[in-house]
Amino acid sequence: MSEPVSRRVAVGCLLLFVVPAGAPIPESPGLPADVRGLLGDGQVVVRGRNSVVVGRRRGSLDDLARRADLAGRRVAAVFGGPVRAVVVVPASAEEAAGLARVGRVDGLAAVADGGRVIVVPEYFGRLSSVGKDVVLAHELTHVVAGTERLPVWLYEGVADYVGYRESGLPVKVAAAELAAEVRGGRLPRELPGPAAFAADGRDPVRLARAYQEAWMACRFLAHRFGEGTLVRLYRDARAVGVDQALAALGLSVATLTARWRDYVREQLG
Ligand SMILES: [Zn+2]
Repeated sequence: MSEPVSRRVAVGCLLLFVVPAGAPIPESPGLPADVRGLLGDGQVVVRGRNSVVVGRRRGSLDDLARRADLAGRRVAAVFGGPVRAVVVVPASAEEAAGLARVGRVDGLAAVADGGRVIVVPEYFGRLSSVGKDVVLAHELTHVVAGTERLPVWLYEGVADYVGYRESGLPVKVAAAELAAEVRGGRLPRELPGPAAFAADGRDPVRLARAYQEAWMACRFLAHRFGEGTLVRLYRDARAVGVDQALAALGLSVATLTARWRDYVREQLG
């Protein structure tokens, strides 16, 4: 499968009600304050069992609400729940960037912003069904678990750990770009840092590998120490820093790196 599961895109549906275009959104019962009138006139709101999806056109919003509910269950299975998802579907990448208050979102299928997931329609729409679910669970993990004070490999790796955990994708498929490097005799030397994730549209293969390297680090931790320990490490790292959190497992960044490299070779070689 060569479709771009990597960054990135994502939802299931019990519609409780739909606000038709032009309806007085602010009066809608129970609508989160931060999405009232978010997209202006013509905003459409679809509710899933445990999700709210806000867009402009009804079109794919029902499907997105189903997927948002699924993503919420996947995040809750790792981090505890219930998880309530708010997904915003603007009309374009440009509008998505404006909502997220960033310069651009080129190449991203979705972004986490505050308490919500913003879908980038041009890119999200290109993903396979599996890819959409992976991306939504990934971004919702950021919303639920937070990213502050953490190294990028840990928060991106955990988000992909949740994203791929029930995806059914074989590891060599989901990490195809990294697997190709390993088969070529090239192992990553260091856990991926901010520079590796800054490639955005200029080097999509390097960017894909950065996510895969981070994912493999968290996958290693879950497989070796247990999923509960991975979650505890994540929370401890936010509280006391990653060095101290790793030390509680008898690891340093250096020893984790060495064992991660062995794991990458073993899983992808
Ligand atoms: Zn992410």
